[in-house]
This record gives sequence, structure tokens and C-alpha cells, in this order.
Amino acid sequence: MTAAKEPSFRESVDLMFNRAVALMDLPPGLEEKIRVCNATYTVRFGVRLRGQIHTFTGYRSVHSEHMEPVKGGIRFAMGVNQDEVEALAALMTYKCALVEAPFGGSKGGLRIDPREWDEQELERITRRFAFELIKRDLINPSQNVPAPDMGTSEREMAWIADQYHRMNTTDINARACVTGKPINAGGIQGRTEATGRGVQYALQEFFRHPEDIKAANLSGKLDGKRVVVQGLGNVGYHAAKFLSEEDGCAITAIIERDGALISDKGLNVEEVRGWIGKHGGVKGFPDAEYVADGATVLAKECDILIPAAMEGVINISNAADISANLIIEAANGPVTAGADQILREKGCVIIPDMYANAGGVTVSYFEWVKNLSHIRFGRMGRRQEESRHQLVVDELERLSNDKQLGWTLSPDFKQRYLRGAGELELVRSGLDDTMRAAYQSMREVWHERKDVTDLRTAAYLVSIGKVAASYRALGL
Ligand code: GLU
Repeated sequence: MTAAKEPSFRESVDLMFNRAVALMDLPPGLEEKIRVCNATYTVRFGVRLRGQIHTFTGYRSVHSEHMEPVKGGIRFAMGVNQDEVEALAALMTYKCALVEAPFGGSKGGLRIDPREWDEQELERITRRFAFELIKRDLINPSQNVPAPDMGTSEREMAWIADQYHRMNTTDINARACVTGKPINAGGIQGRTEATGRGVQYALQEFFRHPEDIKAANLSGKLDGKRVVVQGLGNVGYHAAKFLSEEDGCAITAIIERDGALISDKGLNVEEVRGWIGKHGGVKGFPDAEYVADGATVLAKECDILIPAAMEGVINISNAADISANLIIEAANGPVTAGADQILREKGCVIIPDMYANAGGVTVSYFEWVKNLSHIRFGRMGRRQEESRHQLVVDELERLSNDKQLGWTLSPDFKQRYLRGAGELELVRSGLDDTMRAAYQSMREVWHERKDVTDLRTAAYLVSIGKVAASYRALGL
């Protein structure tokens, strides 16, 4: 097969969708209603910069409004186009349904290379783009709530939130118009790390099931597994950091824009990140082998491969070379439909994007709820929690004073227990619960239905089933 036969990103998502609906019994017409993108808005706007007018092209696509607001990030990249935002918006619909975040799916993008502009210029461009979307209710707390994606971060979200506020000064819920904001602009603890944290929780959950570990031709625990990470952006960095620092994984390769680093004993993720920050790339990093053609390292032997950058990196031209037994899609759409088939036939298990990277939107949901309720997580009911904890501490102290029992409380128990749960702990435990529950719902379908042989199809079945149920409830 040649690369020319590869379908577009949106077609690839549709092919995967079709594979799943073929196994469902949906009423006629509903299948198409769910699959198609409801609307895509294209805007071209000019900003006067460096003495001349520059025209930028942006998009906001709404895939499904079976629940509102619709949700999904805004991407800043040169490759942004209508096909891409529509594919990403569709994935948002399925992702939100799978993890039960009560949103429809949307996505936006601006065709720009953010590295070409300084901060002030970027602020003007972002505010202008936001203005165009706000004007058309494509940014709105009750209708459409963006978040960060590739090329954007909390900084851009703060500008967008402020722009919305300026245009809607009496909207008491203005802050809920966008998520992924800095803490001091209405954000929530743990949102920046959330997608990477979700990847970690997804792998922890996978490795709780011996049957699933076996299906991937692996054995043992997550501890000690060799992991290759492609892309050390926000998602890849946090996933690699947590897996190596907390779960005992060895990050044996990191693939970046300018090449890859290989170290069989494991790379220090913080040091690599620091090196990239200083030198603009991985080249020259000490104590590791450097490979200029980074893409070839995707085929390196390892236990877990984490594509964490962008769509289509594993495609029909390189799928057959992949040697990992387990792929977890931290990015959206990193494996094309054609590659998916090749990998399935090879027996590789893929933890699909709509589940694997759902941590971001899950914590976005917490942030949105926090903004609408105008209260910090964990603030209400704290007194009552504390007095309940005090009861436990008193009882344990009483027991530990009983010489006959012969045990004592560890010295810092009281202090740690009474500290209670702050916002970050609540966010993390809520995320962990969500990732566990969504995995259970996928794996049940995967193991119980003979006609379902992979996790992606199982994920589609669960999420399409939920979207279909919403449409039926709406009377469609
Ligand atoms: N851009 C992220 C994603 O693809 C986050 C979306 C959100 O939080 O709304 O899932």
C-alpha cells in the first residue's frame, strides 16, 4: 500500500465509527445523524502587526449538540484545516460520552505558527479570534466552552476568558466560558497535568487486569515496563514524568521534532524537558544516544508506546514496523484507520484516544462546574469533614494507648489525616474514578461480546450508545 491511499483524518475517524456501528442496531438515519459534523464555522480576520495587515484563518466546528454546552480545545498550528477540526470535534463527542462529561463535541483551530509571534502579538491575534467566536456564541458558558490544545495553554485561555468578560460584563458565569485557565483567573488545580495524569491512571487501570495484560502479550506489572514517548509537549511530558517517577517505568526513548533520544536504562524526563527548553531540541542531551530521524524510533522495541503529539504519526507506511505490544493514544488520532487494522492483525492492543486522553476534558468539566458554582472544590462541608476525621483520630488514639493491643499510631498519621483533601486531591481522585469507571465500561464490551475484538470498537460502542440514548430522549 502507498501513503496516497491513506484517508483523511476525518475519514479515518468515520471509518472507525462505521466499524463500530455495523455491530449496533441503531434506528435508520440515527447513525448518520450521530456521525456527521453539525456545523463548521470558518473565519478569516485581519490583524495589523509589524506595520502591515496579516490575515489569519480560524475554525470552530460543532460536531454534536445532543448535550450543551459543546466542548473541545482550540489548536494553534500551521496544519489546522477544516477536515482536522471536524475529526477532532467528532472525537470530542465520543470522548465526553465515554467518560460521562455532560457535553457535546466541538473543536477549534487557528492556522498559525505560534513561535513566529511574540507574546503581545499572540495576545492581539488570540483576542481577535476570540472576538469572532464570541460574537457568534461559539464561545459561551452555556453553549460552547473551549480549552487548550496543541499550541495553546492557560495563557491563551486567560486572554479568551478576559475577552469574553469584556464583551459580556454582566454575565455572572463569564469565567465558565473557557476551561484550562490559570488558577488566578478561575482555573482549577491539576488541569495542566490532567491529560498526562489520565494517561497514567489509564495504564494503572489496564495493569489491574491480568486478562488484559495477557491480551497484549505482556506480563507482570506496570513497574519496570519500557516506554517510548513520542512528543514531550504538555501531555507527553506529564505522562512520561508520572510513569517514570511514580510507577517505576523506564522511559527508554523520547521522540521530538528534531530527533529522538534513546537510553535503555531510562531517561530523566525533567532533565530532557529542561534541555529542550534551553536548546530548542533534544540534540546534544548527554548520556543518551541521539537519532536524527526520530520517526524511525517509533519502531523501537519496547513494552508501551505513547504517541502524544498529533494525528496520523502511525500510518500504513510504518504500522507494520511497530514492535510495541501496547499502544496508548495520548494524542488524538495518532493511529490511522489503516494502521489500526495492521496493528490489530499483529495482536497489538491499542488503548484508544477517546479514552486515553480524556483526562483533560474530565478536569475541564470539574473546572466548569467550579466556575458555575462559584466555590472552590472542598471548601463547603470542610468543617463537617474535619469533625468526622477528628472522631476517627480520637478513636485510633484511644486504641493505640491500649497497651494490650500493642500497636501505635505512626507519628505523622494525625497530622496527615486531619489535613483533609484539598482541591488538587479532589481533582485527582475524581479523575482516577472517572478513568477507572470508563475503562470498566469498555472492557466489559471487549470481553463479553464475541464480535468485539479491540478496545477502540468497544469504546465506540459504549459512547455511540450513550449519544444515541440522548438523541432518543430528545425525541429525534
Ligand atoms: N483539547 C483537549 C482534548 O482534546 C481538552 C478539551 C477540553 O478540555 O475541552 O481533549
